[in-house]
Amino acid sequence: MSDVYAEPATAGEPTDPATLARYTTLRLGGPAGRLEIAEDAAQIVRKVQEAEAREQAVLVLAGGSNVVIGDQGFPGAVVLVRSRGFQAVAEEGDTVTVRVEAGEPWDDFVAATVERGWSGLECLSGIPGSAGATPIQNVGAYGQEVAETIVAVEAYDRTERRVARIAAADCGFVYRGSIFKYSDRWVVLSVDFRLTRSPRSGPVRYAELARALGVEVGDRVPLAEARATVRKLRAGKGMVLDAADPDTWSVGSFFTNPVLPGEVFEQVRERAAEVGEPPHWPGADGTVKVSAAWLIDKAGFGKGYAGPEGVAISSKHTLALTNHSGSASTAALVALAREIRDGVQSRFGVTLHPEPVLVNCTI
Ligand SMILES: Cc1cc2nc3c(=O)[nH]c(=O)nc-3n(C[C@H](O)[C@H](O)[C@H](O)COP(=O)(O)OP(=O)(O)OC[C@H]3O[C@@H](n4cnc5c(N)ncnc54)[C@H](O)[C@@H]3O)c2cc1C
Repeated sequence: MSDVYAEPATAGEPTDPATLARYTTLRLGGPAGRLEIAEDAAQIVRKVQEAEAREQAVLVLAGGSNVVIGDQGFPGAVVLVRSRGFQAVAEEGDTVTVRVEAGEPWDDFVAATVERGWSGLECLSGIPGSAGATPIQNVGAYGQEVAETIVAVEAYDRTERRVARIAAADCGFVYRGSIFKYSDRWVVLSVDFRLTRSPRSGPVRYAELARALGVEVGDRVPLAEARATVRKLRAGKGMVLDAADPDTWSVGSFFTNPVLPGEVFEQVRERAAEVGEPPHWPGADGTVKVSAAWLIDKAGFGKGYAGPEGVAISSKHTLALTNHSGSASTAALVALAREIRDGVQSRFGVTLHPEPVLVNCTI
C-alpha cells in the first residue's frame, strides 16, 4: 500500500461520503454531499461537468495532504483524483520531458525519475500527495521547487469549458502559490516536467542537506543518494507520512514563511533582539523571508505544545500542527492555529498565513 494517500481509494473500492476525514492526512473533515473516484483525465472532466449540471459545488481532492476541511464537511461533490501513470513525451539533447497524470502519487513518480537517471526532482522526495497537486502551491523543499522543472500544465478550464495547456510562464508560480491555488477555475489533469538525463543531482542548494551528504553547497551527488538523504532528513522531522506516527498526521507546514519588506524585517529583528536573530533569507527584490518556525517557537509555542482535544504542534517540527489524538475536530485544530497566529502577531508584529487550502473553515 502506498504511504501517500490518507486512505488510498482504488478501482471498485466503495467510497465513504460520511466522512472526508479518511481522505485527509490530518484525518479531519465532515461529510461530503457526494463522493466519486475519477480514474483517468476524461473521467475527471466528466465528473466535474456532471456535478456542474447538478448545480453542485465541486471539491477536487487528491492526496488530502494540503487541505483542512471543516467539521461540516463539503456539501457539494468531492471528486477524488486517482488517475495514474507517466511517460516520456519528448527528448532533446540531454533533457527528457515527462508527462505525469494528476493522480499519480508524487513520491512514486519521484522514485521512478531517480531510478531512470532523470535529474531535477530528487530533493522533492518524500513529499506526500499527488503529482497533479504540485503546481497548485509550487511544491518545494530542500532547495528545489516544481516551478524550476514544470514546462506545462494540462488543465480543464471550468470557465471556458475546455481542456487547456498552460505554459509554465503563465502559471503564476511564486513561493507556495500559483494561479491554481484558491481558484475553482482549473482542474489539473497532467503535468509536464523537463528533466535532465544525468546520474547526478542538481547543485545541492540547501545547507542542511549539503551537511547531511557531507558535501559543499553547490556540489552534485548521485541521484539515489540525494533522494535517500532527503527522505531521512524529512522522516526525522515527521515530514514523511507514517500511519504509526501521529506527528505526521498533519498537512506538513501549517504556515508559510512570511515574506516581509526590508524595513518591516528590521522592526521584527529589533523586537526579537533579546531572544536571538531570526533565521532569514533575503530576496532579490529587497524583501526578506523569515523562518515561521523560529517565530512560533520564540513566541512560546514549542514542539509538542498542545491545544484542545489532543491537537498539538508536532514533537518533531514546530511548523506542523497535528491531530495528535487522532480524534480531534477541525474546530480544535483551527483554534490552535489561531492561538499561534495571534501569539506571533502580538510578540513580533508579524501575521502568519496558512499554507494549506482551508475548505469550509477559517482561522
Ligand atoms: C507530512 C507532510 C509533509 C509535507 N511536506 C511538504 C513540503 O515539503 N513541501 C510542500 O510544498 N508541501 C508539503 N506538504 C503539503 C502537500 O503534501 C503538498 O502540497 C501536496 O502537493 C498536496 O497534494 P495532494 O494531492 O495531497 O493535494 P490535496 O490535499 O488533495 O489538495 C490540495 C489543494 O489542491 C487542490 N487540488 C488537488 N489536486 C488537484 C487537481 N488535480 N486539480 C486542481 N486542484 C487540485 C485541492 O482542491 C486543494 O485545494 C506536506 C504535507 C504533509 C502531510
